[in-house]
Amino acid sequence: MDTQFQALLIEKDASGAQHVALRRMTEDALPEGDVTVRVEWSTLNYKDALAITGRGPIVRRFPMVPGIDFAGTVTQSDDPALSPGDRVVLNGWGVGESHWGGLAGRARVRGDWLVPLPAGLSTRQAMAIGTAGYTAMLCVMALEREGVHPESEPIVVSGASGGVGSIALMLLSRLGYTVEAITGRPREGTYLEALGAAAILPRDAFTNVGKPLERARWAGAVDVAGGRVLANLCAGMMPGGVVTACGLAGGMDFPATVAPFILRGVSLIGIDSVQCPRDRRMTAWNRLAELIDPQRLDLMTRQIALAEVPDTARALLDGTTHGRVIVTMA
Ligand code: NDP
Repeated sequence: MDTQFQALLIEKDASGAQHVALRRMTEDALPEGDVTVRVEWSTLNYKDALAITGRGPIVRRFPMVPGIDFAGTVTQSDDPALSPGDRVVLNGWGVGESHWGGLAGRARVRGDWLVPLPAGLSTRQAMAIGTAGYTAMLCVMALEREGVHPESEPIVVSGASGGVGSIALMLLSRLGYTVEAITGRPREGTYLEALGAAAILPRDAFTNVGKPLERARWAGAVDVAGGRVLANLCAGMMPGGVVTACGLAGGMDFPATVAPFILRGVSLIGIDSVQCPRDRRMTAWNRLAELIDPQRLDLMTRQIALAEVPDTARALLDGTTHGRVIVTMA
């Protein structure tokens, strides 16, 4: 008997209008792949919210099950490296964009897209971390590779109340860095301090056209905003400072000058979690399993049902959610 499950499906009608609905499906509807996974948890990322609301050109073909990440248990495998019962996590690889994604009770994907879940992490915790947390870890690993250490000057994190920002804050503070949090929501100050922020900086101070070089105050940055915020962070780096850029919550443009790069030796490192090589993914997930503080993770995590995803996607883009939103398939 073919197992039935629920899936969120994005469809386009003849007029080109996009519709999102909850559908009951069987496994024969799933796309090709060598491994089938019983999805236990998925999440709502910024990219998922753009896809579900249609506010960004994320979905490459229709109909599409959104969800760029999921965690669950293998039920069937033609990949010799994986067996039924294995717990796995998936981030990126175009899942939820060009291949059906995680916002469904089942997913069928290529085995080499799956990372075995490190011991000590539950599938729920893996998705509370999600692509946001894994991307935050990639940013931290890039800072480390470039020689930024906990003894260095402070690190600044933008979009601090969001998914990537909250976890970057938690990881950096756990590693002993002094971290300053930029937020557009000063009311989130207590939350950000609980995650480890040593100072809360208002976003407004970073959204105007700034000088090519500002007071040198940070050794490193994790930027999810892009746009003027990213330009102003580059301008405020110490000599040799390192900026990791992973997002565009504040804009796709980059209205900066070369001054920080040629006069202070600042480095700008791009972070792409989607096509990140497998060995770096494994390292990131193993480090996350070591570094995550389960209590702080709970503090930033809200659980919703699949049916609540469309409304929550709008709230996420409107900036009224904070931290991580996880989706149960139970
Ligand atoms: P969230 O929506 O959870 O967080 C984004 C945060 O950015 C908000 O909470 C808000 O924080 C801040 N923000 C919102 N609007 C603006 C604005 N106009 N200017 C500056 N800051 C703003 O999203 P995620 O954390 O999941 O993702 C953040 C970004 O990172 C997105 O652009 C996403 O696409 C990108 N991303 C990239 C990945 C990659 O592989 N490169 C992987 C994962 C995410 P506050 O209110 O505290 O200011």
